[in-house]
Amino acid sequence: MEKKNIDWSNLGFGYVQTDYRYVSNYKDGAWDAGTLTTDATITMSECACVLQYAQTVFEGMKAYTTEEGKTVCFRPDLNAERMIQSCQRMKMPVFPKERFLDAIYQTVKANAAWVPPFGSGASLYLRPYMFGSDAIIGVKPANEFQFRVFGTPVGPYFKGGVRPLTLRVSDLDRAAPRGTGHIKAGLNYAMSLYNIVEAHEQGYDENLYVDSATRTHIEETGGANILFVTKDGKLVVPKSDTILPSITRRSLVQVAKDYLNLEVEERVVGVDELGDFAEAGLCGTAAVISPIGKIVDHGKEYTYAGMGTVVEKLYKTLTGIQMGTIPAPEGWIMVIE
Ligand SMILES: *Cc1c(COP(=O)(O)O)cnc(C)c1O
Repeated sequence: MEKKNIDWSNLGFGYVQTDYRYVSNYKDGAWDAGTLTTDATITMSECACVLQYAQTVFEGMKAYTTEEGKTVCFRPDLNAERMIQSCQRMKMPVFPKERFLDAIYQTVKANAAWVPPFGSGASLYLRPYMFGSDAIIGVKPANEFQFRVFGTPVGPYFKGGVRPLTLRVSDLDRAAPRGTGHIKAGLNYAMSLYNIVEAHEQGYDENLYVDSATRTHIEETGGANILFVTKDGKLVVPKSDTILPSITRRSLVQVAKDYLNLEVEERVVGVDELGDFAEAGLCGTAAVISPIGKIVDHGKEYTYAGMGTVVEKLYKTLTGIQMGTIPAPEGWIMVIE
């Protein structure tokens, strides 16, 4: 199969229309068979529930080429399961796990020419999502839904080298106790836009959210979990019911324990502990880990090692597992043949 003629290593993180996307529609209580289509547009009612009341959830994952030349996805079963959790909380019909995996498989296979080659640092970002599509004006869940998956090639995250991030401790909140912070709903992003634009205007890369009940615990940023490394090399990850369960973070915790023999603490992390750590990083599908250089809490500044020893080891081990240069734990890699 011939790859598209693209300057892979100079791609950014933006939408590029690929050839095929997967679509399945839910109507009268059942999903249809689903199909690939070349139509990149959606036509629906002006009153569609997603447009009026934001009934939509999404996932994010990547397909890439391993050193051996295989096209693979990283732990797509966890994306399928997380989307089921999101749908249940949003009163949306579940898209069965086996069908989700098949939709990913079909979308990647049909767009094989768009999966960047090994060594380019680029990947095919996959976006599964679902939304309420029929006309809803009185507040209630939609009756009809659409599930889609498209792919878009994205460039290496650390193009031009690693630049450690600067975060500010946010005055606005991301998630409420017993709210929707733990699911991947579009609404969690809509309400974060004001704050991220303001953060950028003030020279920060991200907002670091604290728990909204007590404002004393570290949660995460708008789109990535946070992890810390103590001065004696322990990995510390904040625990809270209002943090989105990042697949990257869960994988890094396992890598830390099983591959790097690190001690791991998953626990409540106080804002007053920010000065105690040697390294910090954000984790998510996009970058695996982005090192943090500085966190600013209302005039108090805490600095970290950036790509420090432990953050770098975690990064290299997990990306090695993804790229097939380090053996993966059973079931972590789905090969697309
Ligand atoms: C998607 C997401 C993450 C990262 O999750 P991964 O599964 O690692 O990509 C972290 N925080 C929030 C709020 C998210 O939406």
